[in-house]
Amino acid sequence: MAPRSRRRRHKKPPSSVAPVVVTPPAIVTPMPLARSEPGPSIDMLGFFSLEDNVPGLSHLILQKLNMKSYEEYKLVLDGGTPVSGFGYRCLQEMFQKMEDTFRFCAHCRALPSGLSDSKVLRHCKRCRNVYYCGPECQRSDWPAHRKVCQELRLVAVDRFMEWLLVTGDFVPPSGPWSWPTEVVQGWDTWFSMRCLQLDATLDAVLSSQAMTTLWANVGRPRPDPGVLQGSLKRLLTDALSRPLTLGFGLRALGINVGKVGGSTVHVIGASHAETFLTRPGDYDELGYMFPGHLGFHIIMVGVDVAADFSQSPSASLPEPGTIQLSSHRGLYHDFWEEQVETGKIPHPDLVVAFHPGFHASADLMEAWLPTLLLLRDYEIPTMITVYSHQELAASLQILADLDTHITAYGANPFASLKPEQVYSNPNKQPVYCSTYYIMFLGSSCQLDKRQLEEKVDDGV
Ligand SMILES: [Zn+2]
Ligand SMILES: [Zn+2]
Repeated sequence: MAPRSRRRRHKKPPSSVAPVVVTPPAIVTPMPLARSEPGPSIDMLGFFSLEDNVPGLSHLILQKLNMKSYEEYKLVLDGGTPVSGFGYRCLQEMFQKMEDTFRFCAHCRALPSGLSDSKVLRHCKRCRNVYYCGPECQRSDWPAHRKVCQELRLVAVDRFMEWLLVTGDFVPPSGPWSWPTEVVQGWDTWFSMRCLQLDATLDAVLSSQAMTTLWANVGRPRPDPGVLQGSLKRLLTDALSRPLTLGFGLRALGINVGKVGGSTVHVIGASHAETFLTRPGDYDELGYMFPGHLGFHIIMVGVDVAADFSQSPSASLPEPGTIQLSSHRGLYHDFWEEQVETGKIPHPDLVVAFHPGFHASADLMEAWLPTLLLLRDYEIPTMITVYSHQELAASLQILADLDTHITAYGANPFASLKPEQVYSNPNKQPVYCSTYYIMFLGSSCQLDKRQLEEKVDDGV
């Protein structure tokens, strides 16, 4: 994944006169960026690929965020100490700067610096999410923009509302599930189960001072309560999509979570999206999905694991009913050799890769190949997620070519419902995180061999 806002239950923001550390704006490229291999940082490739669509855009972002280089930007994403000058006197300035990074003509790609004095960039009045240098560009762009304008309107609201997750003013409802796990098959039933609790949470957030302060500072009118409520629900599905998708995988694969010593899940190709400002409590919902579980150990492995998420995996077993989160910054096959093969930590019960993106380019495929072969040959239950139907088809083809035994695939009942804009190409259809899943186990050749052996056995 590209560097994206994915912070929650963070500490309260400082008072409005103190410098505020800003979370850089959501930047999504069509190419998923998580990876588990060395070579040029994919996050960096993603960042500069913005240039392909809008020359000068990566520069503009850095400038608006008061940063001099990509390295500085990455440092902040990694949770490093903010560099001097990286801060704002007030919320208003912060939101203004964030908004300015979206300011380029969606049609001719002109940046503010490239406009003649008489021209200014004005946003589309419907979605308030794309800008035009003038009526001609807006008119010419409409056939393309009309297809996404309505969805982008949601993106524009979610972008600001996400701040409430960052500051901890919006905490999704939590606590033991009141319905049996097998009844909660997707968001519909999850929302019904959480209904009362959720209504109370949403009401509290809607009438909170934080909400008032937010909309007083973003420079656009506060939307109706219904719109804000819809946004909070989308943000909630986005925050809980990863833990619940893990749970969905464990359930679908029939993995026994009542195992003494707990269950181990490896999240591979983990990047900022999975680790930046991630707190152990973020995975509580997974625990509630399996009442009576004997502990989960979730290990995030990837070269882009955020630096502030540095809890190394320990050999100690998780306590029954608890969730242990840890990370390893590095390549999965190295991690496997050093930690798993040597018996330092137990074999995973499930391996998950959110948006590995190996279908996207030969480079990424080359990077993922050793890991995919390892998972296949060690017959590790594996689940990957993808953004779109097209990616699903491409990924299935690759996995079939690798002779993996695909056990299931389809629409993920716990996909994020928050649309993600392709930032540098605003008229591209927004995507949703973990829309589809694919599960595989071992090799189809082994399966053929085993079936053959069984046949032979039967014959004897
Ligand atoms: Zn234009
Ligand atoms: Zn629009």
